[in-house]
This record gives sequence, C-alpha cells and structure tokens, in this order.
Amino acid sequence: MTIGVLALQGDFDLHRKALARIGDGSVEVRLPRELERVDGLIMPGGESTTLLKLLDEWDFVPALEKFHAAGKPIFGTCAGLILLAREVESPKQFSLGLIDITAERNAYGRQKESFETEGVADLGQGPQPIKMVFIRAPRIRRLGPAVTPLLVHQGECVMARQGTVLVAAFHPELTDDQTVHRYFASIARQAAG
Ligand code: GLN
Repeated sequence: MTIGVLALQGDFDLHRKALARIGDGSVEVRLPRELERVDGLIMPGGESTTLLKLLDEWDFVPALEKFHAAGKPIFGTCAGLILLAREVESPKQFSLGLIDITAERNAYGRQKESFETEGVADLGQGPQPIKMVFIRAPRIRRLGPAVTPLLVHQGECVMARQGTVLVAAFHPELTDDQTVHRYFASIARQAAG
C-alpha cells in the first residue's frame, strides 16, 4: 500500500515522515497522473488560495474527482480540509465538495491563531487522546447528515469523516502522536483491499 502526499505547497514532507514512522510507504504527488500509483492521498496544510491556484494550473481537479469516485481515500488537514469541503466561507472560494461540511477559514481569533492542545477522538476503538496543533485553522461550521464527527473539542468538531474522506482542522504531522496517520493508513489499507 502506498500513500501519496500532495506536494504542491505546504507541509507535505512532515506527513511523509509521519507515515514513515508508522512503517507506511509514501510518495510525493506533484502531477495528476501520479495519483494513479497511490492507494490514498493526503492533502496537507498550507495556504488554500495558493493550493487552489496550483491545483488549477496543473489541472488536478478532474483527477481528484476521479480518484475519489474510484473509492480511493483522501485525508485533508487544515488547508486540505478547506479544499475538500462542500462550502468555504470567509471568503467564499472554490472547493472540491468531497465532504459535506462548511469550512470557515482562519476562524480562530487573533490571540489563538496558533495553539497546541489535546482532544479525545472516537475512531471506533473507544476514546483516544490526541495531540493537536492548530495554525490559522478553519472551523467546521456545518456538518451534513452523512458526515461523522470523530473529534469534538470544546463543543466544536475538529475532525470528521464521510466515507473515504477524512478531514482534520489541526496538524497531526506536527506532533509525535501517530494516531491520526495510523487511522488514515487503515482506511487506505482497507480500500486497497
Ligand atoms: N489559513 C490557511 C487557509 O485558509 C490554512 C492554514 C493551514 O493550513 N495551516 O488556507
């Protein structure tokens, strides 16, 4: 099983390191055709507006839609969550619409633009503590009926899943906590059969 990490901009290298720590192979995905060789894709944090431009420039959108339609899992963190959402606010911008949520960009107030905390996730094996780093993170303002909240922190959902699409508002690659990468790898392994 090979997981691709979208390597257009942002925090892709740390995701590859996190996957290596749990013993999973990964490759950088810089071109749409490189999606054909991977069983799952991580869309890292960065700047969603920049990422959108690059996705458009390289004609990634149809390839990502096809990848998703083929049942291949996608995990978006922070800016990746914004790109995968059905709707984006503040300001409104194009998104792939692969998970039925509304994301509000940069929605944590000034003083709390970046912070580290701990939450408790429910990934189907009882409550699990998870370290979370938020960096100019989006808030999930709305969850559609098909979306399962996996981690609610101070009343707000910060990690969610709809079928093969997983999103987190925080950066699991910035801590030594392997829980979230293990969870995504298990989804990708299952989908790969
Ligand atoms: N604030 C960024 C955006 O709106 C996301 C930040 C991040 O990915 N760490 O795109």
